Amino acid sequence: MAILEIVKYPAPILETPCKKVTTFDRQLVKLLNDMYDTMIAADGVGLAAPQVGIDQQIAIVDIGDRHGRIELINPVIIEARGEQIGPEGCLSFPGLFGEVKRADYVKVRAQNRRGRTYTLEANGFLARALQHEIDHLQGILFTTKVIRYYEDGELEG
Ligand SMILES: [Zn+2]
Repeated sequence: MAILEIVKYPAPILETPCKKVTTFDRQLVKLLNDMYDTMIAADGVGLAAPQVGIDQQIAIVDIGDRHGRIELINPVIIEARGEQIGPEGCLSFPGLFGEVKRADYVKVRAQNRRGRTYTLEANGFLARALQHEIDHLQGILFTTKVIRYYEDGELEG
């Protein structure tokens, strides 16, 4: 297990589209495991490879529901419906929270750590987390979509 350093804004890698993963090897498995440990240690629900300095289309999400740990390699949103507006933050922007509009439902096609293609459907908060992480892989940050920022303490209590 290894905790990786999280890249904070501003850093060019956070706004650069990532390359597709073509090799599914032990190095990829190690990266996925390290990213997971890093996300848990940082108390996050998602983490994308550029946030640990790697420009490849790899992200993980775990919102603590029945889906558990979701590994997204070369993910694409193939369907999106509805609309939700809610609070969002990012491990690359410590302490910053804003209201972001997202699709309420998404269907995602991605590959797992062995390169096998799968699809995943999600609503609500999980759909939000997936869209946030997939945006990262295109170099898109949530701050470009914030409708308004929360004031200090507004999200507490
Ligand atoms: Zn983020």
